[in-house]
Amino acid sequence: MLKRLAQLSLFGAEPPAAVPSLAGAVSPSSPSNPLCALQLGGHPVAYELRRARRRSIGFVVGREGLRVSAPRWLPQADIERALLQKADWILRKLLEQTERARRVDAARIEWRDGGMLKFLGQPVWLRLDPGFSGVRLDESGSLILLGLPLSATETQVRDAVQAWLKRRARSVFEPRCQQFAQALGVQMKQLRLSSAQTRWGSASSDGSIRLNWRLIHFAPDIIDYVVAHELAHLREMNHSPRFWAVVASVLPDYQVARGHLRDQSITAE
Ligand SMILES: [Zn+2]
Repeated sequence: MLKRLAQLSLFGAEPPAAVPSLAGAVSPSSPSNPLCALQLGGHPVAYELRRARRRSIGFVVGREGLRVSAPRWLPQADIERALLQKADWILRKLLEQTERARRVDAARIEWRDGGMLKFLGQPVWLRLDPGFSGVRLDESGSLILLGLPLSATETQVRDAVQAWLKRRARSVFEPRCQQFAQALGVQMKQLRLSSAQTRWGSASSDGSIRLNWRLIHFAPDIIDYVVAHELAHLREMNHSPRFWAVVASVLPDYQVARGHLRDQSITAE
């Protein structure tokens, strides 16, 4: 099974041009708790302070920024001292959150004429024209031609493109599964496409494999890795060294694709 490790993006994987500002990352949402602020490593950091019946100070960095839970009796100065001690960790987590938000933003596909998405790892642009019929890739492989008027709604465009992507996913995944099943000496009983939000793929001991159709956005070597990974589970239903040896037997460079996939996430469109 391959699970999402981080909420990063499918499409906006380029590194940031500059260290993003932390100020925008911290906007705690709960109005019931006071907002506090202090300087951590030269950055102004706001945080939500929750007073609770507890003995120690807790820190959580989430999408809303930094939240601190502290015992009711603890002086503010002690809380700030604890924050300063944890400054490196807090700043690192806040930066990760900022990056994550930026990537999720960049991953959002604009479902309109001129919108861009990745198909088999390559950028393709959407072209709407009622003169076309159906949905197809043009000869250059860089345009998805859609038989829809320019006035089509985002939902209409998204539904048409996603239905096409799912069909393409099946026709791309199927032969890769057959090839890897043969190489691994396993029998795949059934291939199903999934829309899971947290998994790229899964395998059951009855020989059925599920692959997330959104893998079609990725380059072929990433798809191959997920295919080989799930089919290898038909021999080893675990992630033991034996399992990884099975994967390596058909994909010696699997670590590269695995590392790449770790930086991606499944984004719901
Ligand atoms: Zn697995």
